[in-house]
Amino acid sequence: MRATMQDAQLTIPAIFRHGARVHSDSRVLTFDGEACREASFAEVAARVERLAAALRRLGVGEGDTVGTFMWNDQQHLEAYFAVPALGAVLHTLNLRLFPQQLAHVVNEAEDKVVVVGSTVLPLLARVAGEMKTVERYVVVEDGAPVEASIVGQLGAEVLDYEELLAAEPGGVEWPELDERAAAAMCYTSGTTGDPKGVVYSHRSTWLHAFAYNNAAPDLPLGDRDRALVVVPMFHVNAWGWPFVAWMHGSDMVMPSRFLQGEPLARLLASTRATVSAGVPTIWSEVLGYLREHPELDLSALRGLISGGAALPPKLVTGYDELGILVFQGWGMTETSPVCAVSVPPRGAARDDPSWRLATGRIVPGVEVRIIADDGSEAPWDGATTGEIEVRGPWITGGYHFDPAPEKFHDGWLRTGDIGSVDSRGFLRISDRLKDVIKSGGEWISSVELENGIMSHPDVAEATVIGVPDDKWGERPLAVVVRREGAEVTSEDLRRFLADRVARWWLPERWAFLDAVPKTSVGKFDKKVLRQRASAGELAVEAVRAEPS
Ligand code: ADP
Repeated sequence: MRATMQDAQLTIPAIFRHGARVHSDSRVLTFDGEACREASFAEVAARVERLAAALRRLGVGEGDTVGTFMWNDQQHLEAYFAVPALGAVLHTLNLRLFPQQLAHVVNEAEDKVVVVGSTVLPLLARVAGEMKTVERYVVVEDGAPVEASIVGQLGAEVLDYEELLAAEPGGVEWPELDERAAAAMCYTSGTTGDPKGVVYSHRSTWLHAFAYNNAAPDLPLGDRDRALVVVPMFHVNAWGWPFVAWMHGSDMVMPSRFLQGEPLARLLASTRATVSAGVPTIWSEVLGYLREHPELDLSALRGLISGGAALPPKLVTGYDELGILVFQGWGMTETSPVCAVSVPPRGAARDDPSWRLATGRIVPGVEVRIIADDGSEAPWDGATTGEIEVRGPWITGGYHFDPAPEKFHDGWLRTGDIGSVDSRGFLRISDRLKDVIKSGGEWISSVELENGIMSHPDVAEATVIGVPDDKWGERPLAVVVRREGAEVTSEDLRRFLADRVARWWLPERWAFLDAVPKTSVGKFDKKVLRQRASAGELAVEAVRAEPS
């Protein structure tokens, strides 16, 4: 029997048309350091059409790639819709990539046009000579004048974004698109290796956006919401938020380059944001500022989402004290990213630690299995750990120009994360495969050690890496940043930790730094720390192990 349903394509233009018509009065706010500039969805939509028409006039068509090198702002959002709607591919470039990596990803993705913010133009200009495929740069003035000397270094035609739009009368003929065609691409941030390109389809983007509110029912992005979009739009499409918010009519507050604790805390209050999402290091900075500024009114805020790295319990309790709930999500560039979100299950109180300290509950549309060390599938008993594998319509099946067979297992993506799942589908990540510490043949969870150390009131940041050890093969080295003015010692911390983890886990090696190095998306950078440790650049204190 043949189904009789219409074969409507699940595309980004379908999201765009819906938001533009149904939520025309929802708003996009862009912060300039002092105030927010506002535009309605209807106004943004009209500009998207003009941008698309202008790009088409410049020769951008189906299958071409357009890079963006921009902060989170209204123009970046315009590119998010205009480029895929033309049948071209939106390639969001990470502003914090090393110059060589930047040139490499632009060349590999074959970016034809790059839309770039004037504040970051000098970063791009440094490597523009190595970018082989870029024919034109379109510059958005986002807070800095465009210097002629920088423009001269670009070696290609440079156009002004607003002039381009002003020259378009409006109205554009959109092509018919296949939902399985490429729509956007994002490179992994390279925390554990070289960046690899993940290419999202229209269909995967649509399904991920559509599934999102269902996955996060406690913190949806609906038309009564105002979302502070902290996750960079080059980091897994800001976790899909621009598409979710546009589809469901949530206002978006774009912080541009003002991503420090103070402006973010102030924006949450001044814009009366109802929800925001970011990595734990950001929420830690914001919490520090909020504690010092109890006058800030956050009564509109319904909660925060943390993801991208383990959420330290200390942050959960810190925000609890301010009456703000923090939820956790888990995913990766390869998974669009949302695979699991921590939501209270039936019968559980909102502050019940059983779900709040889990990494997340598997969302509909994603399948998960745990593969134990011996290759067998582990039971969902909340205790047995193994590598997490996932599959589903918004999970990648390969990388750009790189099928990377080692990353897949019978069609499932090997996430490189180690964890367990309980009988209700709550996932708990204990480590990354590349970060686990194997001491005397047994695993030590770096995440649990970090959480334990960070729960000390005098610790601002902590991260734990494995270092070679003659006797045990590998032992943990704890790298700690003290809270300002605190004098806590390694002995104090070891004693504090002794009540929280198994005795043989207690690190003998400690190093104190002013800040833990961060990756391009704000996570603790263990790769850099491991390099520094092996080069002998960390001042490591040895704490004599007390007899057990
Ligand atoms: P990168 O791999 O370069 O860090 P991604 O943003 O794609 O860039 O990172 C995905 C990884 O981040 C996951 O594989 C996992 O290790 C980690 N991660 C994401 N969310 C969480 C979470 N809630 N708890 C612990 N780790 C997380």
